[in-house]
Amino acid sequence: MELKGLKAWIIYIALDFQYIWPKLRQDDAKYGHKMLDKYESLLRQHDLRPTRQRLLISEILFGCDHRHVTAEQLRSEVADRGGNMSLATIYNTLNQFSDVGLLREIKLEENVTYYDTNNDHHHHFYDPKQSKLIDIPSEQISLDKLPDVPDGQTIDRVDVIIRLS
Ligand SMILES: [Zn+2]
Repeated sequence: MELKGLKAWIIYIALDFQYIWPKLRQDDAKYGHKMLDKYESLLRQHDLRPTRQRLLISEILFGCDHRHVTAEQLRSEVADRGGNMSLATIYNTLNQFSDVGLLREIKLEENVTYYDTNNDHHHHFYDPKQSKLIDIPSEQISLDKLPDVPDGQTIDRVDVIIRLS
């Protein structure tokens, strides 16, 4: 009885990981370390359960240099890796990642939100023609004069977005 339950559990795990496992294992071979373990502990450190969706998204977002992505871009990258997630799932995951500080949300216009994997304080150039954000180190912008803050409030931070044409 016990063995039967164990078998069912193993099959469940195998099914659960079937589509991300080969990709992540390839990366393991390529980079010579355990990618799965890396993202699993990253998620756990931020009190997020390492579901297969979160692991796949972590691997796409954090497996390379800092980047800025939209939910739509991320969805197509998930599809490129054989995954199939609804836009709602992608948004939920991005928002959860932002809530715990793994990502920074940058709202540019009403329907244009980017998610930044660089959490250090910095500013951005925005190129609307190429739909691209480019980092500006915070020390390259000096803010000499700021308006008086409404009573009882303080400035949390100042994010500068310089639009390019
Ligand atoms: Zn950035």
